[in-house]
Amino acid sequence: MSTTPADSVTARAAYEPVIGLEVHVQLLTATKIFCSCSTRFGAPPNSNVCPVCLGMPGALPVLNKKVVEFATLAAMALHCRINETSIFARKNYFYPDLPKGYQISQYDKPLAEHGFIETPSGGGKKRIGITRLHLEEDAGKSLHEGFPDADEKTAIDLNRTGVPLIEIVSEPDIASPDEAYEYLTRLNEIILYTGVSDCNMEEGSLRCDANVSVRPRGQKEFGTKAEIKNVNSFRFIREAVQYEIERQIDVIESGGKVAQETRLYNSNEGKTYSMRSKEQAHDYRYFPEPDLLPLIVDEKWREKIAAELPELPEARRARMVKDYGITEYDAHVLTSPKSLADQFEEAAKAAKNPKRVANLVQSELMGRLKARNIAIEQTPISMRGVAESADLVEAGTISGKMLKDLYDLCFERSQDFPAVYEKEKPQQITDAAAIEKIIDEVIAANPKQLEQYRGGKAQVFGFLVGQLMKETRGKAKADLANEILRELLG
Ligand SMILES: [Zn+2]
Repeated sequence: MSTTPADSVTARAAYEPVIGLEVHVQLLTATKIFCSCSTRFGAPPNSNVCPVCLGMPGALPVLNKKVVEFATLAAMALHCRINETSIFARKNYFYPDLPKGYQISQYDKPLAEHGFIETPSGGGKKRIGITRLHLEEDAGKSLHEGFPDADEKTAIDLNRTGVPLIEIVSEPDIASPDEAYEYLTRLNEIILYTGVSDCNMEEGSLRCDANVSVRPRGQKEFGTKAEIKNVNSFRFIREAVQYEIERQIDVIESGGKVAQETRLYNSNEGKTYSMRSKEQAHDYRYFPEPDLLPLIVDEKWREKIAAELPELPEARRARMVKDYGITEYDAHVLTSPKSLADQFEEAAKAAKNPKRVANLVQSELMGRLKARNIAIEQTPISMRGVAESADLVEAGTISGKMLKDLYDLCFERSQDFPAVYEKEKPQQITDAAAIEKIIDEVIAANPKQLEQYRGGKAQVFGFLVGQLMKETRGKAKADLANEILRELLG
C-alpha cells in the first residue's frame, strides 16, 4: 500500500514525541577537578597532565573546592535543591581516552536535584524539570587526524582528562524540537549569567545529548528511546531531534520496532545514524569512589555561595521592563548577552528617556554592529555616546535622520559619538520664519500638487514635506515643518 503525504501527516499527528536532554558544561576553573593541572584549552597535547589525571596507580584525587562552588552556583540558578551530602562514584568502562578505566562521576547521590527551567511556550510559559545536576571529570580525546601517520594510528591527548564538568539532566518534559531548542537557549543563558562556564560549544565547553522516543498520543508508557550524541549546535539539536522523531514514527508505522541505541547526527545530510546499541546503566558497575570522602555542602557554605548568585536573566528582564518602561520584547533582546544588558543599563540610567535608548540600541546600534559583524564589546559608540545621542534627539537638537548619519560616521571613523558630534555639529533648522520661506518656495514650485491637495488628495501632504526635506537636506525640524505646512495649506 502506498502512502500519500496526507496519510503521513495524519499518522504523525497520532504520535507524541518525548524528549529529554543531557547537557555537559565545563566549569571555568583554572585547574582540574582532582589535581592542580591547568584546564587551558589549546595547550600542546599531553602537556597539562600529572599522575592523578593520567590515572597512575596510587595517585590520589583531591577535590577542587572552586569546582564545588561553581557547580552549586549553577544548580542554584537552575532552581535545584542542593543535597547536603553527595557521593562520588566510579563509572567503569574501558575506552582508550580514559586511562583509569573508570570515570569519577556521581550516581545515586548527586550534588543537586529537582530543578527547572522556564521556557516560553505558545504565548505562556512552560516549566521543564531538571532531574539532577552532578559533578564529574571529563575524559581525554582520541585524535584521528592532523598528524603524519594518522591513517594508521590514533593518538590520545589527555589534557582534557579531569577537566571539571557538570552534567545537567532534564526530565522527559520536552515535547517538540522547538522546545528542546528553547530549553537549551535558556540553559545556556542562565549558565553564562552565573559566569561558571563560557559555554563555548566549539571548544567542547557545552555538549548536548538528546534522548528521543515517540508514543501513541495519550499513552502513558514511554516508547523505546534512542540517544543522539554530541551534537555541536543548538540548531543541529533541533534538526537531529526532528529527524529522529520522524524516523521513529516511520519505523513503527511500517511495522518495525525502535531499537534502544546511541545514534550520531550527520549535519551535512540532516540524518542520524546508529553508532552502538546502548549500554544499560548497570553495565557501568557504579560504586562509591573509595579515594574521596562524601562531599558535604552544609548550610553555611550554601549561604555563602547563594550570596554570589547574580540577578538571573528572567528576573533582570522583569526589572528592566519596570525600571525603564520598555517592552518585554525589548528586554529579551537587550539581556542577551549579559554584556549587552550591562551596557544598556549604563546608558539607560544616564539618559533622560530609557525607552528611546532601548530603541536606539536595538535599531541603530545593533543593526550597524550586525551588518559589520562586530561584537557589542567592540562597538565604536559607547553607551555614554548612545545616551548623549538619545538626549539630543529627545531635546529636538538633532533629528532622527541626523542621528543616523552621525552613527554612520562613527562607524566609518571608528570614533565615539561625542567626538563625531562635536566635529560635525549638524544644525536643525528650528527657525519658523526660515522654514516658512522654504515651504512657500516648495508650494510655488508644485502648483499641480497643491491643486490635487485642495481637491482632497491628502497624501500629497507627504510629498510636499518630502520636497521640503530635500531642499533643506533633512535639516528642517520635522514636527515644526509639518505644523507650518498644515497652517499654510489651511
Ligand atoms: Zn593532573
